[in-house]
Amino acid sequence: MFNSAQIGVVSQAVEIAEDVTANYFKISTAQWKHVRYDIRTLAELRADEITDSAFAQITRYSRKPDHTFSGGRHYDYFKICLQDHNIMAAVERDEPVQLFPLAVYVVTHELVHVVRFCKFLQRFDAEPLERQQEEMRVHDITQKALGTPRIPHLDYVLKAYRDYQFMEQLRDHVETV
Ligand SMILES: [Zn+2]
Repeated sequence: MFNSAQIGVVSQAVEIAEDVTANYFKISTAQWKHVRYDIRTLAELRADEITDSAFAQITRYSRKPDHTFSGGRHYDYFKICLQDHNIMAAVERDEPVQLFPLAVYVVTHELVHVVRFCKFLQRFDAEPLERQQEEMRVHDITQKALGTPRIPHLDYVLKAYRDYQFMEQLRDHVETV
């Protein structure tokens, strides 16, 4: 699990990732509030939100009202579950990779997915081939979005992870309310 210093680093990374993603998609602060997501680290995850094979898991929580009166609309929100252990393993494995730039990369990548889900540019339950193509697109957008900010050692991360295949897992969770 991230220690408290690492949590501090990651929350700074989240702020930058949110800025960069909103800028890329030209989403104003007011509109950004309609992008329904939450970012959590390992300490706050349920057992089924934890994985050993990716930097993150995006869980789509769908709330389907069991009646259709007005206001009873379908409601989705996306929980970006950061996998501290896999992120730290990458930092420890590859010395030039530092937590801050890696966290910026991972969170930006996941936010790009979330925005694309929300704008219906990507289907959450896409077939494997479509999903693979989307993954390349999202890597591409992440690289472009992060092209400008001057973050130390980010260039190394951009190079090392430009085609990385284990960024996230997607999981659906439907509940009736
Ligand atoms: Zn991805």
